[in-house]
Amino acid sequence: MENIFNNTQIAFSLKSDTELERAYFLFKLIDNQPLVRIGTAVTNFAIKANLPVEGLIRATVFDHFCGGVNEEDCVSVVDKMYAKGVSSVLDYSVEGKEEEEQFDAVLNKTLKLINFAKEKKAIPFAVFKPSGFGRIDLYQKVGEVKKLSDAEIEEWNRILARFDKVCKAAFENDIALLIDSEESWMQDAVDDLVVTMMQKYNKAKPIVFNTLQMYRWDRLDYLKNLQEQAKKEGFYIGMKLVRGAYMEKENERAIEMGYPTPICASKEATDENYNEVLNYMVNSIDSMSVFAGTHNELSTYFLMNLMQEKGLNKNDSRIWFGQLFGMSDNISFNLAANGYNVAKYLPFGPVKDVMPYLIRRAEENTSVAGQTSRELSMIKAERNRRKGK
Ligand SMILES: Cc1cc2nc3c(=O)[nH]c(=O)nc-3n(C[C@H](O)[C@H](O)[C@H](O)COP(=O)(O)OP(=O)(O)OC[C@H]3O[C@@H](n4cnc5c(N)ncnc54)[C@H](O)[C@@H]3O)c2cc1C
Repeated sequence: MENIFNNTQIAFSLKSDTELERAYFLFKLIDNQPLVRIGTAVTNFAIKANLPVEGLIRATVFDHFCGGVNEEDCVSVVDKMYAKGVSSVLDYSVEGKEEEEQFDAVLNKTLKLINFAKEKKAIPFAVFKPSGFGRIDLYQKVGEVKKLSDAEIEEWNRILARFDKVCKAAFENDIALLIDSEESWMQDAVDDLVVTMMQKYNKAKPIVFNTLQMYRWDRLDYLKNLQEQAKKEGFYIGMKLVRGAYMEKENERAIEMGYPTPICASKEATDENYNEVLNYMVNSIDSMSVFAGTHNELSTYFLMNLMQEKGLNKNDSRIWFGQLFGMSDNISFNLAANGYNVAKYLPFGPVKDVMPYLIRRAEENTSVAGQTSRELSMIKAERNRRKGK
């Protein structure tokens, strides 16, 4: 298959010269791992100490990786991307809060986003994080089948009710709903809950999507078992496939607590695992739908090839490609220009609450993680093209 991802004119067609310069400056900065570590520590300190750093964050990382502080701010970006064939998934990226009030606020925000999506063709999916609906420790306790106190049972029932409310709203409004994956120690409980939702709302088509983190070596077996269950019980499977964003935390905890790490032994093993599940899903596409959330060009080609081999249309409604806003525009915009379904996660929220998300992005874009050199070379190529070099 010809390389379609090097067309920088298409990739950056929405970026003004100034925005392109900002992106260059930003990726140059986060290319440097020690700087990212120091910058993260200083920024966290400055925010906690109420120092006036929000303006600076907003003008740099925030505006590059986020659509704004609320959903209305995001509309102009959503419309501009859609004009180029790229859809959006509005992602309310407030993390790390564990009060009931906050869980209800996230529930209401998610319901609002489903309604928002219903009004806008450019937003085919809604999304939420399970930790937005309840405490991680409680998910863990439920997953480990530990006895809950009466108060915990009530708390868990509130989580179930939140899940059911958003999945029902998604079903009634015919909007697919992506459920993110986070730490592995909360995932067993999340998986069980999401299966209950699939049994209820995916009878006619995939509405509810779980997420498989393919840096975990046990996920293909999980999917195969789920497929057996889905066949028997008659529901469709919706899955977002990602590699996973919490690798260091996972490995550190496994060492600290003395259990085998759930993470694949190497990057290559994760890559193989990812492609193997893509293969499995495309071969079972009559009973499932896949949202391939990746910035990896090889996995993206792998899926494009699989679709071609299977004789599927490029815009087959069961197959979506996804990237994060501010990253891999060369993949997103060139996929769209070539007729594939593609959506970008567009995070939004108050600047200081979005910091954990921004820090993950900075960390995964350092030279060690390896994506930045490609971003930088794409941006450089586009600068040169615009200068007529
Ligand atoms: C649309 C979208 C939705 C997402 N949703 C989620 C989500 O719900 N949950 C979540 O956790 N992440 C999510 N992510 C983030 C995703 O996990 C990161 O983008 C990913 O970590 C980067 O992987 P990649 O496929 O883009 O490419 P690559 O750059 O090829 O892969 C990097 C990844 O490979 C894995 N890896 C690196 N080194 C090793 C090693 N030594 N051993 C084993 N594995 C290794 C890690 O997962 C690392 O992040 C999402 C991403 C996108 C684009």
